[in-house]
Amino acid sequence: MGIEAVVPTLKAIGKAIRSMEEPAVEKIAEETHDDPFRVLIATLLSAQTKDAVTAGASARLFQIAHTPKTMAALTVRRIERLIYPVSFYRTKARHVKEACRQILDDFGGVVPRTMEELLTLAGVGRKTANLVLILSHASQDNICVDTHVHRISNRLGWVKTRTPDQTEQALYRVVPRKWWPDVNLYLVTWGQNVCKPVFPRCRACVVSALCPRQGVTRESRA
Ligand code: SF4
Repeated sequence: MGIEAVVPTLKAIGKAIRSMEEPAVEKIAEETHDDPFRVLIATLLSAQTKDAVTAGASARLFQIAHTPKTMAALTVRRIERLIYPVSFYRTKARHVKEACRQILDDFGGVVPRTMEELLTLAGVGRKTANLVLILSHASQDNICVDTHVHRISNRLGWVKTRTPDQTEQALYRVVPRKWWPDVNLYLVTWGQNVCKPVFPRCRACVVSALCPRQGVTRESRA
């Protein structure tokens, strides 16, 4: 088991997640017709934050401002109050305001479309840039790796890596290209519902026969 199980595993997970709730940023993308600005800001807010909190914070912020110009006009304090209680809300509020200013000053008010340009924005790393490219620009060339994708790819034995950035590069080598845009949606949903960080629900997992459970020491009894 391992790399040869990648496609059967993705197919099984893709089918199983149809009945599960979508991750917050995916929902925001659908609700905003894939607006790159709101996908960018929601992804910035989502880091190390539960989906329900990200959804609430994004909704409050976007109700007051949903363009770079209107958001840049808010004070950092106001953004902090709107996005609280997302984790690191003070740092994220500063990044949001600074990223809006950069989009206005450096990119004519339009969220850039390339990895290199996106990475120049405050608070934006490869995870955020990849998600904007996949969800808002329909990129077929990127895999977005967050903590769920990193953890589950290792448990499944697809990769053996220490960091999300290493995982991203390793996944480009083992996942067939047509599946690249789906990896994030599939594994994030799986991570939130089944393959949880602590006590994964291996007994209820539809891919348990394809999974070597690398590094799993405790699992849910449910
Ligand atoms: S069998 Fe367990 S470790 Fe493997 S994907 Fe399923 S829940 Fe995760």
